[in-house]
Amino acid sequence: MKKINIAIDGPSAAGKSTIAKRLATKLNYVHLDTGAMYRSTALKATRNGIALDDEKGVCEMLANTEIILTPEGKVFLDGEDVSTAIRTDDISMAASAVSKLKNVRADLVKRQQQMAKAGGFIMDGRDIGTVVLKDAELKIFMTASAEARAKRRYDQNIAQGIPTSDIETIAEEIRKRDYDDTHRAESPLRKADDAVEIDTSDMTIEEVVNCVYQLVMPLLEV
Ligand code: C5P
Repeated sequence: MKKINIAIDGPSAAGKSTIAKRLATKLNYVHLDTGAMYRSTALKATRNGIALDDEKGVCEMLANTEIILTPEGKVFLDGEDVSTAIRTDDISMAASAVSKLKNVRADLVKRQQQMAKAGGFIMDGRDIGTVVLKDAELKIFMTASAEARAKRRYDQNIAQGIPTSDIETIAEEIRKRDYDDTHRAESPLRKADDAVEIDTSDMTIEEVVNCVYQLVMPLLEV
């Protein structure tokens, strides 16, 4: 059967990665969580004392940085498993800061495009349908209210044993990241003209997976 690429974009904590992961299992595709790459970059810059707005410094650091995303969903930064370390609230904010830097984006986008060449990828992020995979066969723009997203992120943190703030603090951070991600100069978060929008606020994970699956199936038959 034909292998297509699927782009999933949307604001923070809208459920993109959860849905992408489930869908990848169902289709036997590879899920690529591009947010994890911005998070890993932010983690390394923070550890190395590089200012998050120092474009040259972060880019030079990236030139000697290996970020590996495994099909099982693990993230390795220069060989170290950082899958949990990149999920803290501080790193979420730091990732949003480094993602504003034009040349940092150029470096990571190049890596993402290289990885997706073979087809059969479900990539989630902010600029997948608009920049990284402009010719993806299916583009989804996934949204949910800030309240629903904060509650999900909180539950996810608790379930995974990740240190977490309370729901209201998470909601505030989500609103700030939404604002920053949609207002930045470089590749701001926006729905691609040819993307299908799904508001997941009142949907279960299963319902969203099935909804996207229904959109995928006809594309595999042509
Ligand atoms: O998706 P996630 O919340 O893990 O992404 C962390 C941050 O990385 C986002 O707030 C966003 O600023 C940035 N990002 C991006 N482009 C992507 C993926 C993530 O700018 N493709």
